[in-house]
Amino acid sequence: MLDCAIIGGGPAGLTAGLYATRGGLQNVTMFELGMPGGQITQSSEIENYPGFFEHDKTGMDFMNSWQEQCFHFGLKHEMKKVERVTKVDNHFVITIEGGEQVEALTVITCTGSTPKRANFNGESEFFGKGVSTCATCDGFFYKNKPVTVLGGGDTALEEAFYLSNICSDVYVVHRRDEFRAAPPTLERIKRKENIHLITDSVIEEAYGGMMGLDGVKIKNTKTDEITDMANSGLFVFVGHNVNNSVLQDENGEFICAMNDWGQVIVDLTMKTDVAGLFACGDMRIQAPKQVISAAGDGAVAALQVISYIQELS
Ligand code: FAD
Ligand code: NAP
Repeated sequence: MLDCAIIGGGPAGLTAGLYATRGGLQNVTMFELGMPGGQITQSSEIENYPGFFEHDKTGMDFMNSWQEQCFHFGLKHEMKKVERVTKVDNHFVITIEGGEQVEALTVITCTGSTPKRANFNGESEFFGKGVSTCATCDGFFYKNKPVTVLGGGDTALEEAFYLSNICSDVYVVHRRDEFRAAPPTLERIKRKENIHLITDSVIEEAYGGMMGLDGVKIKNTKTDEITDMANSGLFVFVGHNVNNSVLQDENGEFICAMNDWGQVIVDLTMKTDVAGLFACGDMRIQAPKQVISAAGDGAVAALQVISYIQELS
């Protein structure tokens, strides 16, 4: 029986493993379907993690430096995809892809969330090189420059507002002429002079070269007119998929409380409403979706796991 099974090996999972093992737990395994590191390994740079300010280093370089430390105190890693977590009596059964089952006293899930793609030409080619899904991460790279935002939901408009305080102009491109975002949010956006709403429009193409994105072509779906937005970064906010399938039972029902958007409901200590089950990082409610906050969540969850196990004995 594991003391703790950690599911997901991004910043939250690695940090949870570091704190759990350094805090004295002997038998902790982190299940990660690929190489540890998480989403940030897709980024060409990171400059908002205190203590790491090296402009020539990628997200992959950044996470490589975590591995040695996080595994040093005894965290075990299995490169396996978890299918499901089930609570049985006072412990959990972890079902791995292929059918193998592992038992654990506690579980920390931190499988992250994945921004949806809009599927326009150049989106994948320039993802992380000018096409971004994170204003907090990348907005500063466009200080006093124009940016384009794609999407008409709450996230797109809230992030457009955030960007409008950094960038010279924010062009919000939305495929319809009505916005999905809450009306007060839309009204606030309309009052901001440097935010420009471009409706009934889609991104026809993101273009650039070896150095990254050079601009975007916006197409009006009613007139077919193309507007070339040169020298603009592009932020895509067309929704998120929360990677929450490990918390669904065989009938597709969630084993713990979730909100309407599929995020795990936790308290400030990362506890779910199931004793012994913790969730942290990008998959939890109100996640700031940053490396530093995911890592902080992982530490909090691991400390709670240690207390929980102490109380069992
Ligand atoms: P993730 O990093 O998403 O890790 C989850 C892990 O779980 C993944 O490795 C995944 O493979 C694994 N997993 C999923 N399902 C399963 C399963 N069923 N079984 C086993 N393993 C599973 N943040 C910043 O602070 N600064 C930045 O500059 C920044 N830039 C970014 C740039 C890009 C291109 C992207 C995509 C993100 C960026 N972020 C940045 C956001 C940051 O990467 C995330 O907030 C952070 O990685 C979330 O950590 P996490 O551990 O919660 O989840
Ligand atoms: P969302 O509500 O699903 O909105 C996605 C937006 O992207 C929509 O405007 C959609 O257009 C557009 N879109 C989707 N696919 C596209 C494509 N391929 N090309 C171009 N545009 C595309 O997602 P979200 O904004 O991330 O919000 C998710 C949930 O979280 C929502 O329920 C939202 O209310 C909630 N949320 C709440 C708050 C808050 O309360 N403060 C903040 C953020 C998010 P259409 O409108 O035409 O479909």
